Amino acid sequence: MAHSLLMIPGPVEVDGDVLAAMARPTVGHTSPGFIETFGACLDGLRDVFAAPDGQPFVVAGSGTLAMELAVANLVEPGDRAVVVDCGYFAARMGDILRRHGAQVESIGADLGDVPDLAAVEAALARGAKVLTITHVDTSTGVLAPVKELAALARQYNVLTIVDGVCAVAGQEFRQSEWDVDVCLTGSQKALAVPPGLVLVMVRPRALEAFKARKTPVASYYCDWGLWLPIMQAYQSRKPAYFATPAVNLVVALAESVKQIKAEGIEARWARHRKLSAAFRAGIEALDIRQVPVREDVRAVTLTAMYYPDGVDSKLLGRISAAGVVVAGGLHPAIAAKSFRVGHMGVDGIGEILQTLSAIEQSLDIKTGAGVAAAQSHWME
Ligand code: PMP
Repeated sequence: MAHSLLMIPGPVEVDGDVLAAMARPTVGHTSPGFIETFGACLDGLRDVFAAPDGQPFVVAGSGTLAMELAVANLVEPGDRAVVVDCGYFAARMGDILRRHGAQVESIGADLGDVPDLAAVEAALARGAKVLTITHVDTSTGVLAPVKELAALARQYNVLTIVDGVCAVAGQEFRQSEWDVDVCLTGSQKALAVPPGLVLVMVRPRALEAFKARKTPVASYYCDWGLWLPIMQAYQSRKPAYFATPAVNLVVALAESVKQIKAEGIEARWARHRKLSAAFRAGIEALDIRQVPVREDVRAVTLTAMYYPDGVDSKLLGRISAAGVVVAGGLHPAIAAKSFRVGHMGVDGIGEILQTLSAIEQSLDIKTGAGVAAAQSHWME
């Protein structure tokens, strides 16, 4: 069966070597080979998150579990949480926080924009235990100013949790330098591994806050106290067991982390920047309007766009028939009016041009104007 190019904001195209790694025979989770692979993978993740002082946690699950793994360990009933709301995934974070007993204050923005920093600061000044930020909101394509927000949180002695599901390994992110306490992601986005792994990077201040808890963590599977000795054991290349790791996925992740190391995380961020700029040069040439309202709030990992006048979600089927899979709208306010293209992971200019060509064919644009604009932007 012909392979359609997968250009949704996760899961994404996966490199052949990563797929081959995943297809290796399943090994025991305490076999020496697996211990070395998992240990090296955990070590390498510190570079991916730019968190030399971070403690990685890798467990089986999707990004939503990653969110819960952050919240469940830091929040106790009655704690106040401030949520920076740039779209759909902030509401989910709010729900998870409330489920764990937090009093949630959400600071919103106009659709396609980020909240006013002063409004976030005012909320922090009222006192809070955690500030949550979606680095890239996948429903709007909006990029939040994580560095500035984390600095504000620090001023008010508030812990920062960054949902980096649609950002880590694509969008520039320096966890230690920016002083972000916890960052979480899933395997299926810019890490370019199939779905199924949760990654959470926890820095020392957050671990101390966890240790100072007065109440037990309400979720057994999420409890850092149960996972920490396991992660530390793999890091010191020793066998350990709490709950069976998704061994084949971990082997695949280790291969991806190796590839990221070979490329260099800075070079990977730069590639995502350049590819997104080329894609946008293409869609601008086609007069397609983006959801994020300004250049400085546009993510490099995906582009959220409005359908041109007179066009609706039937466009997605035509793009798919042209061999490329893109995503429809997700944010409730614009779900029927917008569509999204993910450009993250291992994509290169070939994938960008193929996607633009499929969009042009589907809109019956015969000039190739979008492809040409992207190509010339790329080559500049
Ligand atoms: N946060 C963000 C920013 C996301 O994009 C997603 C997934 N699209 C999630 C959280 C939830 O991840 P999952 O679907 O893997 O549970």
